[in-house]
Amino acid sequence: MAIRQIVIVGGGTAGWMAAAALSRLKTNNLVDITLVESEAIGTVGVGEATIPPFVNFNELLEVDESEMLSAVQGSFKLGIQFVNWGEIGDSYIHPFGAYGYTMGGISFQHVWHRQRQHGDKRPLQVFNVETMAAYFGRFSRTQDYTKNFEREDLPPVNYAYHINATAYAAFLRKYAEQRGVVRQEGKIVDVTLDGESGDVTSVQLDSGKEIAGDLFVDCSGFRGLLIEQALQTCYTEWTHWLPCDRAVALPCNRDDGSPPPPFTRATAHSAGWQWQVPLQHRNGNGHVYCSSFMEADEAHDILVNNIAGKPTADPNHLRFVTGHRNKFWNRNVVAVGLAAGFMEPLESTSIHLINTAVDKLISMLSLDGITDAQRDTFNRLTAREYARIRDFLILHYKATERTDSEFWNYCRTMSVPDTLTQKIELFKATGQIFREEDELFTETSWAAVMMGQRIPMIGHNPVADTMDLVKTRKELDEMEQSIRYVVQNMPSHEQFLAQYCPAREAA
Ligand code: FAD
Repeated sequence: MAIRQIVIVGGGTAGWMAAAALSRLKTNNLVDITLVESEAIGTVGVGEATIPPFVNFNELLEVDESEMLSAVQGSFKLGIQFVNWGEIGDSYIHPFGAYGYTMGGISFQHVWHRQRQHGDKRPLQVFNVETMAAYFGRFSRTQDYTKNFEREDLPPVNYAYHINATAYAAFLRKYAEQRGVVRQEGKIVDVTLDGESGDVTSVQLDSGKEIAGDLFVDCSGFRGLLIEQALQTCYTEWTHWLPCDRAVALPCNRDDGSPPPPFTRATAHSAGWQWQVPLQHRNGNGHVYCSSFMEADEAHDILVNNIAGKPTADPNHLRFVTGHRNKFWNRNVVAVGLAAGFMEPLESTSIHLINTAVDKLISMLSLDGITDAQRDTFNRLTAREYARIRDFLILHYKATERTDSEFWNYCRTMSVPDTLTQKIELFKATGQIFREEDELFTETSWAAVMMGQRIPMIGHNPVADTMDLVKTRKELDEMEQSIRYVVQNMPSHEQFLAQYCPAREAA
């Protein structure tokens, strides 16, 4: 059946990202797009840390970066600092850019490891511009400093954003409505399925209004109003590998007057971990924990005792089940965002999964109708994407030496997917990391977490041993020097924000 009416159910980050991206189809009035949301139900109200592909999403929409960041009180993010994960007292940064660069056709960690065996004791981190800028609280975009410094040998800076989720949804709403997406306020109370095909034909609102569609994008959050409640797609659960199942969120002021750091912080506690997401005017905070090992009151108290100032809202307690729907695209319903699945926000991957789901939907969409091949391809690619991210998240829990709580004892000793075991064993023996197919996380990401959490790299690629020691040392000196030069000449993150994208209004 031809697609003439697209209905998006839900107006959280997922709904409005889908609406904004799909609104391009409105240019020649190819389709009608309606978004239904209920103010009374509201949104999940969290989800403020992003990763670099999110920058591309906004570029694709052709939104002005500084204008968008001003509107969402946004700040820049160069990576994630992990505190207390390997052992209490440990700290490392998972940066968004690479360590060094490929030399002699092999990855940088091999060259670094070989030089280290020959007395060069510099840590890997000094060869990464994002890590060094994060430590010094500095920020600049590549295009700014290459213009100012007039040098071409300087490393690029990879970054993402911290955003106020509510303000971002409002920003995209304006964008999508200006391009012809129609917003419909109301609570959906019923869903009608076609008697023969089983497709969703319409949704009914509490006002009695009926909204018909040919393709439905279910962005209704954890409840999965269409994909689960109407189509009973069922869920694959991964709680045995990622046991955290609760969170309490509590934004706060930065009463200590500290500037917003250009990174997210993830601090491990006794049965989970705490996020700190610095916006321009406040911090987003939350404690993700495992209800089998910790009560909600204790999780709340730990959070309150570890935030930078006075809370700006009431605590928001959330429950979740880690995993995903057995089909992301079922019949004429495509689930996006929390309706599709959820993995905890340790590496800020949920908004990214919205982004890739919307990208895939648009690239596979045909207005002539929906085929099995489309659905199957979408489902296969998305399931693979989830599994690769899942393994990377599990790594953080598995690679710990902590013995101070039952939770960490469980994580340290749990069995993990074979795909992850192989990755860890390969890295230990040879320092090799292979990025599987088009998986999100790079070699640097895997190396950062494995080394940051004390997985020993015993060997390296033998090609590194063929390199001239003195020449290689000189090359590493130059690399370190150019990173230091860039970082020293960057403005502070706070100064950059004040000049480039000062927050328009605090929410
Ligand atoms: P929601 O925000 O729940 O929106 C659902 C929408 O559906 C709402 O508009 C609601 O009104 C509507 N709706 C539901 N039922 C009906 C109905 N019957 N009738 C009409 N409308 C209805 N992601 C990141 O990338 N980075 C992070 O740092 C991050 N942190 C997170 C921390 C926690 C604790 C959690 C739980 C999630 C986090 N996420 C993070 C995920 C992120 O919050 C979500 O991916 C994002 O907010 C998208 O949510 P959503 O739009 O799918 O759902």
